[in-house]
Amino acid sequence: MSGIPPLLTDASPGLRAASGAAVRGTTVRVVSSQARPALLVSACLLGTACNHEGGHSRRATVEALAATHRLIPVCPEVCGGLSTPRPAAERRGERVVNVNGDDVTAAYARGAQAAVELAHATGARRAVLKARSPSCGSAQIYDGTFSRTLHAGEGVTAAALRAAGVEVVSEDDV
Ligand code: SF4
Repeated sequence: MSGIPPLLTDASPGLRAASGAAVRGTTVRVVSSQARPALLVSACLLGTACNHEGGHSRRATVEALAATHRLIPVCPEVCGGLSTPRPAAERRGERVVNVNGDDVTAAYARGAQAAVELAHATGARRAVLKARSPSCGSAQIYDGTFSRTLHAGEGVTAAALRAAGVEVVSEDDV
């Protein structure tokens, strides 16, 4: 929950710097949409039908962040080369397997790398990712038994982004 206030306010460091300069009268800067901080977002939360069932998880509270941020949609599983729809998958330690028993770790790793590169390319320092996904989950994920059992853990992309210094929260946090 620690990252919630910065995600919900337009008082980001960049915006504060711009408005602060104007108040002091030393420099007048127009805050354009490009001055909004970039925010990586799971594409399914913005209505893209890219989840494993071919559906989405659209959240109005996440879409509303567009008022204060440049939203950068990403679906790591699609970026990793997986089709939509696709078999459900879960993490088993460092591996990812789907419900058919196929090892799909490489695709998940490619997707995670793509998300990290996108964060770097756009300057995104924060991300709002879909909760409980084997890619995007940031606090809990399913335990690899395909029994709908959650345990503490993070998805492959959430872990890679955090390792790259990106703050990751879920739609439940905004
Ligand atoms: Fe949504 Fe992430 Fe799953 Fe793509 S990989 S469908 S963005 S939760």
